[in-house]
Amino acid sequence: MDLYEYQGKELFARFGIPVSEGRLATTPAEARAAAQELGSAQVVVKAQVLTGGRGKAGGIKLAGSPEEAEARAGEILGMDIRGHVVRKVWVEAASDIAKEYYLSVTFDRGEKKPLFMLTTEGGVDIEEVAARSPDALARLHVDPLVGFQPFQARWLCFAGGVDDPDEQKQVIGLVQKLYEAFVGADAMLCEVNPLIVTPTGEIKALDSKFTVDDNALFRHPDIAEMRDPEAADPRERLAREKDVTYVKLDGDIGILGNGAGLVMSTLDVIDQVGGRPANFCDLGGGGDAEGVVAALEVITSDPDVKGILFNIFGGITRCDEVARGILAALERMTIELPIVVRLDGTNAEEGRAMLAEAARSNLHVEETMLSAAERVVELAGAQ
Ligand code: GDP
Ligand code: MN
Repeated sequence: MDLYEYQGKELFARFGIPVSEGRLATTPAEARAAAQELGSAQVVVKAQVLTGGRGKAGGIKLAGSPEEAEARAGEILGMDIRGHVVRKVWVEAASDIAKEYYLSVTFDRGEKKPLFMLTTEGGVDIEEVAARSPDALARLHVDPLVGFQPFQARWLCFAGGVDDPDEQKQVIGLVQKLYEAFVGADAMLCEVNPLIVTPTGEIKALDSKFTVDDNALFRHPDIAEMRDPEAADPRERLAREKDVTYVKLDGDIGILGNGAGLVMSTLDVIDQVGGRPANFCDLGGGGDAEGVVAALEVITSDPDVKGILFNIFGGITRCDEVARGILAALERMTIELPIVVRLDGTNAEEGRAMLAEAARSNLHVEETMLSAAERVVELAGAQ
């Protein structure tokens, strides 16, 4: 789960990482009141969206008075930043910036270890720095079994090019705290870009990108509550409510399968026969009517879907169970779209016979994955 900047900063503050004081606002009037309350000569009004590059897109503006904060918030609220509509702004006491650094900790899946990155060339896209001057980017892995060692923060700081002793002291403390936040919140990414040095030599996090592992949210009910249902795709929200694994893609074939591996290969086969998947749902171990209805509701709410493919391999879940589930689901909901079903494995013949017997005009049974894919692509094309 990605957090908004203001939420990430709230977590930063909890772990002792210095951030500026700020307030959330959803209207220009609230932004004005926020600026007034902060009482700072200058504030910065920042679009809260779950995407980067807000500054370049015009989503971050300085304001010299509460009136000006109101006006800037009026410009930023409702703005579309890379497909994300701004519904909230964060108003924070503006900082004077002498230098912009970059600091992050994320997972290096290849090494199976958390990876720190630090550079004094911050503020810009880190990919740019990595490409332009890779030597300026210090990288350091932390062995999760040994844990973080204080000398590692010192090494990172020196290798990253922080040479002022007073800055070093602050950065070393901050690296340690960022690791505590990363582990403490079960994060996948904690990124501070820019990490600034003020003209008086104070270091603080001016931005935050914080991603928490979805699978660990049960341990953090307070963080789980930070999820903004408005930010999610409406169908992904529906899927989450119904406990269906759903992924949106950009074609026109809706795919239902049982098991992630089977679903992945189904995507490949659709591609192989010249089709494009619109989405996919993983029924997992469940093929009962409830599960099938939930998945079909999610899939058919996508207007891009022109045909539906069920690809089921009966193992623990028997094919006749799934066939019963499909038929029960079709009793309960009206679907006019062509549905192609491929059943194989345990009780496949019984399942196919049940579907054939039901004799529904839009329900087509195929024996192999390839023929089923060809059929659904052809039927969807005729829609
Ligand atoms: P991003 O564009 O989404 O990464 O948003 P950031 O929060 O990183 O802000 C982008 C840029 O806006 C920063 O690199 C700063 O140059 C500028 N900025 C943000 N906050 C302040 C502030 O308090 N004072 C000043 N002077 N500039 C700021
Ligand atoms: Mn940033």
